[in-house]
Amino acid sequence: MAKNIQAIRGMKDILPQQTPLWHFLEDRVRSVLARYGYDEIRMPIVEQTELFKRSIGEVTDIVEKEMYTFADRNGDSLTLRPEGTAGCVRAMLEHGLIHNQVQRLWYRGPMFRHERPQKGRYRQFHQIGVESFGLEGPDVDLEQILITHRIWQEIGLDGLELQINTLGTSQERQAYRAILVDYFRAHQEQLDEDSRRRLESNPLRILDTKNPKMAELVAGAPSLMEHLGEASKAHFETLLAGLDGAGVAYVANPRLVRGLDYYSRTVFEWVTTRLGAQGTVCAGGRFDGLVEQLGGRRVPAVGFAMGLERLIALLEETDLAERLPGIDLYLVMVGERAQREGMLLAERLRDQLPKLRLIAHCGGGSFKSQFKKADKSNARYALILGDDELARGEVGLKPMRGEGEQQQVALERLSEVITDVFELNTK
Ligand code: ATP
Ligand code: MG
Repeated sequence: MAKNIQAIRGMKDILPQQTPLWHFLEDRVRSVLARYGYDEIRMPIVEQTELFKRSIGEVTDIVEKEMYTFADRNGDSLTLRPEGTAGCVRAMLEHGLIHNQVQRLWYRGPMFRHERPQKGRYRQFHQIGVESFGLEGPDVDLEQILITHRIWQEIGLDGLELQINTLGTSQERQAYRAILVDYFRAHQEQLDEDSRRRLESNPLRILDTKNPKMAELVAGAPSLMEHLGEASKAHFETLLAGLDGAGVAYVANPRLVRGLDYYSRTVFEWVTTRLGAQGTVCAGGRFDGLVEQLGGRRVPAVGFAMGLERLIALLEETDLAERLPGIDLYLVMVGERAQREGMLLAERLRDQLPKLRLIAHCGGGSFKSQFKKADKSNARYALILGDDELARGEVGLKPMRGEGEQQQVALERLSEVITDVFELNTK
């Protein structure tokens, strides 16, 4: 027999047992975003490779070694999107929606990066991303952090830490870059291979190293904060005061630089210690230079993206999955007439009770075998219809998980009784 074909390494199926948690997360996030007036945008998953080179930066990890890039049949170089911001800005520019106006947007969907797969790190993963355009902040920086904070509350996640930093303007960073390079050059022998490479291409990223052997060196590096101009300092201080005012705790982390090149001023991450090395569940910041970099005029912008797999992993540690609503009723039908009329009864119930989750048994079989299926479906109650019951104009309602005895219910009272049992009015 031929070997079964398997999914691509690092690309996971999200199975039916798991989708209820995904729905919960996505629905809650979507509803919070709607409450802040953010609108959804849907972009293609494939873009021209050039878009990512120009936006994310040629010397970033993503562009250097993580992109899924291929030639299509016309010979054009295309890339599966590694993140959503570039495509979002491209779309806004292309449709004339970005100059002299304010946009509050969000998107969701799969992203692709050729990384080493491990817990919390996949080659296809999912983000919900949020961006605003046309606002200088820091009020909108604050708004977005408050959105994330509210999302954690809405989905019942605690124990996340907000880390925040400022990267200044690109001019300020240029000046600081030179100072930083001098410092690392003076300690060249302590740099690992990655950092030596970065010293030429992207020295700020050395601050972001995950190599514990370099921790001390990095801790002693000059701080960008001391090289910021007044306006950048004021921006940061106003944002921190806003967080204080809103009662959102944070840790100012001067070593937080983020992997993408396009950030300026505010950067932040929400991190947890519960996911090992893959502890960042949400990351973002301000990127005032990006629109210009992609061919537009200067437009201030802020955004963040949440990694949904990592959030789901945290939700899986709670008892949330057990508390989510499942199937209410499984309709068992034994006898020819019962099977015919049962399907119609199920339709009537669905007409009357739009919130009811009801599986009507298909495929016939004995009472015993149908009941087994009812049990397997995890339904709270079985609804039992036999030819005898039908003749008496009633149906049996039997709790499946030890919530009392079976009761016989007159067909004309059925929807009323079900409404009561499942509290469908208040759900
Ligand atoms: P990391 O430092 O973990 O590689 P990053 O800085 O590359 O993250 P971003 O590009 O900022 O990540 O993406 C935002 C969020 O998307 C991350 O905080 C994380 O939650 C999630 N994410 C990024 N890459 C992956 C991946 N390969 N698998 C799963 N989630 C990811
Ligand atoms: Mg990364």
